[in-house]
Amino acid sequence: MRTFLSGQLNELREQGLYKNEEALTTAQATHIGVEDGRDVLNLCANNYLGLADSPELIAAAKTAMDKWGFGMSSVRFICGTQTQHTTLEAALTSFLHPRAGVSSDGAQVDTAAEVAATETSATEVSATEGDDEWDTILYSSCFDANGGLFETLFGAEDAIISDELNHASIIDGVRLSKAARFRYKNRDMADLEAKLREATASSRFTVIATDGVFSMDGYLAPLPEICDLADKYGALVMVDDSHAVGFMGQTGAGTPEHFGVSDRVDILTGTLGKALGGASGGYTCARREIVATLRQKSRPYLFSNSLAPAIAGATLKVIELLKESSELLTRLRENTQYFRQRMCEEGFEIPESTHPIVPVMFGDAVVAAKMADAILARGVYVRAFSYPVVPMGKARIRTQLNAKLSKDDLDRAIAAFVDARREVLGS
Ligand SMILES: *Cc1c(COP(=O)(O)O)cnc(C)c1O
Repeated sequence: MRTFLSGQLNELREQGLYKNEEALTTAQATHIGVEDGRDVLNLCANNYLGLADSPELIAAAKTAMDKWGFGMSSVRFICGTQTQHTTLEAALTSFLHPRAGVSSDGAQVDTAAEVAATETSATEVSATEGDDEWDTILYSSCFDANGGLFETLFGAEDAIISDELNHASIIDGVRLSKAARFRYKNRDMADLEAKLREATASSRFTVIATDGVFSMDGYLAPLPEICDLADKYGALVMVDDSHAVGFMGQTGAGTPEHFGVSDRVDILTGTLGKALGGASGGYTCARREIVATLRQKSRPYLFSNSLAPAIAGATLKVIELLKESSELLTRLRENTQYFRQRMCEEGFEIPESTHPIVPVMFGDAVVAAKMADAILARGVYVRAFSYPVVPMGKARIRTQLNAKLSKDDLDRAIAAFVDARREVLGS
């Protein structure tokens, strides 16, 4: 087997598909140290709000560890659950689903911080809600949230219709289910409708599954159209909002808020490992009966540890920060708009979107790789993506912006792109 695997690994190297990992010598941040001792500007992280090295989050994590310990050493239904986990679930519900946080008299439910400060239990929180149909369940990753979703809720009588570019964790989660499987072309509503017609002819429940944002292009899923089709055919809508939660939409609740369809999306999954602090952890937010069923039957919840106390504590802090101030969201939006506009002015090909994932298209895989090397040599860390990660002939450098980049940083990055292009392409 060693000989076989070595052969396979060599093949990957020969095809240029071998993935090297850049070793960082510092915290994940806007400027990072790399192994050759240089300090480089970082345009490669999912750290959209720049919170990954935030002193406030680190302090919150330490406070949580002092109070709640390092770990729980098992799963919740056996060894118990900490009230900060249930508090976080309630805080995520009201953050992700603003309607659930509004009491019958229209007043907003307390912020996570106030909830935590008064040690209100999750049951008391929900008792204050006028519309408490929604709930959230934590997982140790979004990969697990997706992995434990479909097989728990959808059986052989049901159908799952999935966008062809959905994240690997949705694909794997769907594979575990016995439901009939359909795949539609990326964001293609005519194809989705054809698949809905076919699926709903014989299925009991039908669910449309989509990423909120497609991470290679920075394109948003057309949620209003998807919800319209779901209504027309009596299907449910599931959105994995990992690349949007924390910053898309007016309060950062994600793509459903961005499109004004928060109460039309039935199941939301997402990660705590990108904008919401950047450590790890995931969740599913859905109607109460769905979440209650997941707590009973979802295998990654039942058979894997829940979030470490430090992450639960720090995530509560992130939600508090986002409720207190929209400054990070505003800065991320300004940075995104500035970088997109300036790069277009410099003649780079950028797919149209408003998302902080900004792919710079080169087409040819060798050119994209040479550009990435030349840009890194100029002190800006970027990576090239080529086939099979993206379609043949659509090689690109995928940049990702964050709220902590300064205008100087952005100007430096743009200059590095322009200068590298002169070296690589002579233009
Ligand atoms: C990053 C990502 C995940 C995985 O999240 P983890 O919490 O790191 O497991 C799942 N789905 C999508 C769409 C993602 O972008």
